[in-house]
Amino acid sequence: MAIMDALARIRERIQAACIRSGREIETVKLMGVSKFQTLERIEAAFDAGIRLFGESRVQEAAQKFIPFKGQHPEAEVHLIGSLQRNKAKAAAALFETIQSVDREALIRELGALTAGRERSLGILLELHTGEETKRGFSDERALCQAAEQVLAYPGLVLRGLMTMAPYTDDRAVIRRSFRALVSAQGALVSRFPESDWSCLSMGMSHDFEIAIEEGSTLLRIGTALFGERTL
Ligand SMILES: *Cc1c(COP(=O)(O)O)cnc(C)c1O
Repeated sequence: MAIMDALARIRERIQAACIRSGREIETVKLMGVSKFQTLERIEAAFDAGIRLFGESRVQEAAQKFIPFKGQHPEAEVHLIGSLQRNKAKAAAALFETIQSVDREALIRELGALTAGRERSLGILLELHTGEETKRGFSDERALCQAAEQVLAYPGLVLRGLMTMAPYTDDRAVIRRSFRALVSAQGALVSRFPESDWSCLSMGMSHDFEIAIEEGSTLLRIGTALFGERTL
């Protein structure tokens, strides 16, 4: 299916989920997850109207998005995959936001790398809510400590939280995972009211409607938009 048609169908489903849950459609943003997709398909998604992209590996993202952003300065790309320390410098240079911040050592590294620079680096703290790779902070207490760390670095700016639900057909399990993120957001808002916790990055191709019902503000959609990953 062409990306334009896929996007139209996704938008219809987003709209239906918003109506079901009494939400304004403008409150739900859509990221095209372009990992393992070719530059041609990324161009096609951009032509269809996608402006925000997500990549899981720094090197692949740099190969595609350094030239792509040169041509399309309004395009944004976020890292959504785990980040190794030795790739932190390249990541801080390329991405507008790192969504997969999952440990304090990484915050210190990114904080040091962005000291004194003009454009701050957006940070989403990732919460582990049951997905099998065990990536992410384990609970609200760990998130609060991590937030404290981020606030110590002027080059970093908090933007919200991210999670990945377990890959399952059990909707109750998925819902529980998303609810844990919403609950963590509540805890962080009351503990750090001055910070921006507005981004709730949750929902992928197979679970985005549940994510909307539970309050997601950013959907990360790959295969439903681009088709199978080919790189
Ligand atoms: C790959 C990936 C996605 C997109 O997955 P699809 O099932 O293709 O929509 C979203 N979020 C993260 C963190 C991913 O790694």
